[in-house]
This record gives sequence, C-alpha cells and structure tokens, in this order.
Amino acid sequence: MSITDNIKRLKSELDIANVTLVAVSKTKPISDLQEAYDAGQRVFGENQVQELVEKHEALPKDIEWHLVGHLQTNKVKYIAPFISLIHSVDSLKLLQEINKQAEKNKRVIDYLLQVYIADEETKYGLGFDEVIELLRSEEFAELKNVRIRGLMGIATNTDSEKQIKEEFYELDTFFDGITQSYFRKEDTFDTLSMGMSSDYKLAIEMGSTMVRLGSTIFGVR
Ligand SMILES: *Cc1c(COP(=O)(O)O)cnc(C)c1O
Repeated sequence: MSITDNIKRLKSELDIANVTLVAVSKTKPISDLQEAYDAGQRVFGENQVQELVEKHEALPKDIEWHLVGHLQTNKVKYIAPFISLIHSVDSLKLLQEINKQAEKNKRVIDYLLQVYIADEETKYGLGFDEVIELLRSEEFAELKNVRIRGLMGIATNTDSEKQIKEEFYELDTFFDGITQSYFRKEDTFDTLSMGMSSDYKLAIEMGSTMVRLGSTIFGVR
C-alpha cells in the first residue's frame, strides 16, 4: 500500500469516528510528507524540534505542525513562531517557557498535558494527581499566552489488549472528570490524544479524539 492509499483509507475510517489524524512523520524524508500532503493530509507530527523546524521550512505553509515528543525548555523558542499543538507538556516550568515564547511571538499556543498511564518506567508525563495540582495552581492561572486543549497519553507497549484498554479507559475517565471539574464552560478543552499504530483502534473504542499514526501511514522506521 502506498502512502496515498494509507492516508485515504485512514481518513475515511477516522472521519466516521470523528477522530483527527496526526501523521507522525519522524525520520521520514520530505518526499514522503509531500505525498501525504498531496493525498489531503494537513496535520503532521514530529518528535524532535530540529527535524520539525526543517520540515516546516521545506513544506507548504498550510500544514498544522504538532510536536508529539518530549520538549526541552531551551528548544521551545525554535517552534514557538508556528507550532499548532504541543502534545507533550509535562511540567509547569516547560509551560511557563512556552507561555513566554508565545508572548514574544504575539500568539497563543495550544497544548495538551501528557499524562502518564503506562506500566513502564521510561515514559514521560504527569500523574493524575500532578495534573490536578497544576490546574489548581496560581501560576497556571497566570498564563495568558497558552491554551490547554486536552490530554495526551501513551499506553504500555504490550500485546495485552486488556491492559491497553484499561489504560485508555482510565485516561478517558480522567479526561471526562477534569472536563466537568475545571473546563465545563470552555468548549476548547476537547482533545484526547491517544492511540498509535499498534493500538489506535482500541484507543478510539475508549474515547480518543486524536490518533498519532506513523508506521501505519509511512511504513516501518
Ligand atoms: C513515533 C510516535 C508515534 C507514532 O508511532 P507509530 O507506532 O509509528 O504509529 C506516536 N506518538 C508518539 C509520541 C511518537 O513518538
């Protein structure tokens, strides 16, 4: 299957479920992204700042760029002028730096809080209690140039569908809970980014609104 075929097939599958497709193009050449673009894809995700900046410069300007990987505070300035959504905010310090760089660029930057749901030690993210602590803090309330759009989570890399479903279920339940508690009046808190190539169907079953797919579109890395 070509990239074009994959995009067309996924788009029709995801449109029915009302789920946004982020084409995760890390390590892939510009020509592959161009093919996806020509097939109608406009949302691309990368996990490294330098690669993201280079691809942004090389490709059409109506692409929405998402950062899906871990972000270091000292690299925020490179993506602040154009980034559409940062999926991986996992500290107040990082959020404050995004706010500062957004202000410099006279814009508001959308982001998701990355929540730790996996049964693995290496994954980044906040615990459920840390998310609540952040949302309640005075420092959070002071940030005017960032806008929270929702949550992101990565499930454990396992063959157990039961475990993956449980992790997505927990995140979906938490998402609903904090929507009710903190964002009832804000209809922009609407994004639950969960699901990658191996588990996106389970994620959609469990309430995902945005999936991040790499190898399903572009082939193995
Ligand atoms: C690489 C990556 C993806 C896409 O992974 P695939 O398994 O290729 O679909 C999704 N999310 C994040 C955070 C990634 O780093």
